[in-house]
Amino acid sequence: MQSAFSIRSKLTSGISIYAVIGQLAAEHKAINLWQGAPNFLPDQSLIDSATRAMKEGFNQYAPMAGIPALRQLLAEKIAKLYGARYDPDQEVTVTAGGVEAFYASITALVHPGDEVVFFEPAFECYEPIVRLQGATPVPIKIPLDTLKIDWDEVAAAITPRTRMLIINTPHNPTGAILEKCDIDRLIAVTRNTNIVVLSDEVYEHMVYDGMTHHSMSRYPELAERSVVVHSLGKTYHVTGWRVGYCVAPAGIMEQIRKVHQYLVFSAPAPMQVALAAALENSESYFALAEFYQRKRDILLSGMAESRLDIKPCSSGFFMLARFNDFSNSSDRDFVFDLLRRMRVGTIPLSSFYGDGSDTGMIRISFCKDNDTLREGGRALANWRP
Ligand code: GLN
Repeated sequence: MQSAFSIRSKLTSGISIYAVIGQLAAEHKAINLWQGAPNFLPDQSLIDSATRAMKEGFNQYAPMAGIPALRQLLAEKIAKLYGARYDPDQEVTVTAGGVEAFYASITALVHPGDEVVFFEPAFECYEPIVRLQGATPVPIKIPLDTLKIDWDEVAAAITPRTRMLIINTPHNPTGAILEKCDIDRLIAVTRNTNIVVLSDEVYEHMVYDGMTHHSMSRYPELAERSVVVHSLGKTYHVTGWRVGYCVAPAGIMEQIRKVHQYLVFSAPAPMQVALAAALENSESYFALAEFYQRKRDILLSGMAESRLDIKPCSSGFFMLARFNDFSNSSDRDFVFDLLRRMRVGTIPLSSFYGDGSDTGMIRISFCKDNDTLREGGRALANWRP
């Protein structure tokens, strides 16, 4: 359709890399190692519960903050795992996936002119959401050789305008995890400031090799200034259901809910009923670490002969691989080449940098069934320049 209508772009970024690669991967019938979404079924009992909920009439808007039984169970889970007591009525909100929790939190808490410190490579939505508030994103690059945050650099980046610091542990896309020494530094750099910590912990259960997840809610001094974002989609292998949640002290959550109510009003009702039943009936999330560690290792052994330099990964769904010892391509071209010639989809790491930094690396996802991991690992191992 022709239109002479002129619009001014609010965001300079293009279409999400997930949409771009998703379309190309479909065209090339490529093995999906690009997206952090399982390609296997969730528990049959979860599907049965959701179907039952629909048949029983849970097809209209859920309560704005989430179904009370689910919020109660989520508060109990956090108390058990991390020792923090959140009031389910005022301090727990069920959201339409983690992204909605980020959007509602940043929109509610960050004002024009504020600065938001976060770490790159970063999940791609943080920066544009900050920009949409008329605020300034302040990215700090994580060194890719050590994957350790330089906290002196963080301290130097904090100004009186810093309103928020975004943390992501376990980390997408590097597979790194914050350790206790990082938490101590985080407490120190935010002490006596007005900074809210927005903590993306959607991979909280995917932690390998005996590592520990340090939730902000474990540390009272951080919990009082933090919004912690969790995912039910990731924990129950149902990312398409779009159900996540966030927790925060009542004063902060009151502001987040003001945005959430006008963004989606409420998260999908039958899915919330089903997820409440799953949470009530089992502690299956404790098995996720072993389940995904095995998947990581299957992919790693499939790639043992690969020319790619695979970075160690101790958490989450992803690992990084360096290719530029063997190729001068840009990371995007390298990913397109893998799609076309090897029929395997991955993500160029430059998509996780606001300035498009190309470090000669790709992100590979291992939250897939074992046959896909073996086939994908073989395809990556067979790549030749
Ligand atoms: N969080 C997931 C990832 O990083 C999925 C994101 C998406 O597909 N929009 O792959």
